[in-house]
Amino acid sequence: MNISLSGKVALVTGGSKGIGAAAALSLSEARARVAICSRNEEELRQMAVEIESKTSHRVLAVRADVGVQADVDRLVDEVQSALGGIDILVNNAGVVGEVGPFEDIPTDVYSEVYDLNVVSMVRMVKAVLPVMKAKKWGRIINISSENGLQPDPDMTPYNLTKAAIINLSKSLSKTLGQHNILVNTVSPAFIYTPLVESMIKDIAARQGSTEQEALRRFLAEKRPNIELRRVGKIEEVGAAVVFLASEQASFITGTNLRVDGGSVASI
Ligand code: NAP
Repeated sequence: MNISLSGKVALVTGGSKGIGAAAALSLSEARARVAICSRNEEELRQMAVEIESKTSHRVLAVRADVGVQADVDRLVDEVQSALGGIDILVNNAGVVGEVGPFEDIPTDVYSEVYDLNVVSMVRMVKAVLPVMKAKKWGRIINISSENGLQPDPDMTPYNLTKAAIINLSKSLSKTLGQHNILVNTVSPAFIYTPLVESMIKDIAARQGSTEQEALRRFLAEKRPNIELRRVGKIEEVGAAVVFLASEQASFITGTNLRVDGGSVASI
């Protein structure tokens, strides 16, 4: 199967690093015209240059906080005028928020994490819908997590938002199908992003072990459900995003594609 996104414009939120950067790279490799956004402009521009050097395709970098309506409006305007539309939206920007026992997490944290992880996606979808509806073609891919189906007891605020994202995709798929706008979720588990890498480095330093040993112990003790017994690679999530964005996925909407090495235990 040869996937080409030639002629399509893709916008990836949180595209300066980790899963968002990998999704942007994979989309660019599939010849989509790609735009990325995040809050740290320097990191964002560096990533755009890095992707451009790998694919020889231009990548548009627009500094924007998806938690701010004015930024979202400006982002969508800039991408449309620079690249001529938006066909594919990858709603990836997200935060973990506070982690710990339920009693220790202040109630306000729930609304903060929900606003960024869920309401920002709603904001982005509303902003791109007019252009997708006009074209009668669209792909919206929302990045959730295994935590949406298999909650970690120390990550309650995050768990709730990731479950809501799966529900959001399914809800939207029901109303947007008639416009040929397909909405799906990708749910990764334990992917080796800079965030995870620094966590493992910290653990290794505390334990006085190598990073490899710290990762092996973390997988055995904290992620025993990952059947493939390894951490996921960012490009494995990028590949799932490209498939769902492609013409080959034209009869798939409302689904939740888990890229989790078998971690979620339910069917
Ligand atoms: P990451 O390395 O922390 O990257 C997050 C990206 O989002 C960065 O580009 C960050 O840049 C951007 N971002 C954060 N807040 C933003 C905001 N308000 N507006 C615009 N951009 C913002 O995270 P990741 O590990 O790649 O995770 C990406 C997504 O995958 C998240 O939704 C996460 O929940 C999900 N996920 C990750 C894993 C994993 O194992 N890594 C597993 C399951 C699900 P700035 O900070 O500069 O804005």
